[in-house]
Amino acid sequence: MTIRTYGDPVLRRVAAPVERIDEGIRETCQRMVEAMIRANGAGLAAPQIGVSQRIIVTDVRGELHVLVNPELVEVSDEVMEGAEGCLSVPGVEATVVRRARVRVRGTGLEGEKVEVEGEGYLARALQHEIDHLNGVLFVDYLTPARRQSLLKEYSRREREEVA
Ligand code: ZN
Repeated sequence: MTIRTYGDPVLRRVAAPVERIDEGIRETCQRMVEAMIRANGAGLAAPQIGVSQRIIVTDVRGELHVLVNPELVEVSDEVMEGAEGCLSVPGVEATVVRRARVRVRGTGLEGEKVEVEGEGYLARALQHEIDHLNGVLFVDYLTPARRQSLLKEYSRREREEVA
């Protein structure tokens, strides 16, 4: 399972809602959880494995969430700053401002309604993964100068890894 990286057009597409939870969707979720765990990530969105559908998984402090068609239904006015990275832009991190607390509503794998309330790192992961479903990457929040230097650092690392 390869995780799609920066520059892959699937990461910029707005993912389609899941119409029905069937075997195929459950299999996709399984692959996502495996890829996230193998990469030591705190979260993953379906576009990152090349599937343009609205599914996210998060794994923060041993708490695993699988959410189909997740939606942010409540966000705090309070914001927080913190270091953020992405399995699709491996090896680099940047400070990103996020909402401190969020409530996300979605559907679980048995078709049940699921609601997740997160604060701190879980809130950050949920916002980051939902962004992926809208074709948004964490680097989009940086100033153009900061983004440019981060992406330069990223491609330098990529080249070194290939070499
Ligand atoms: Zn990401």
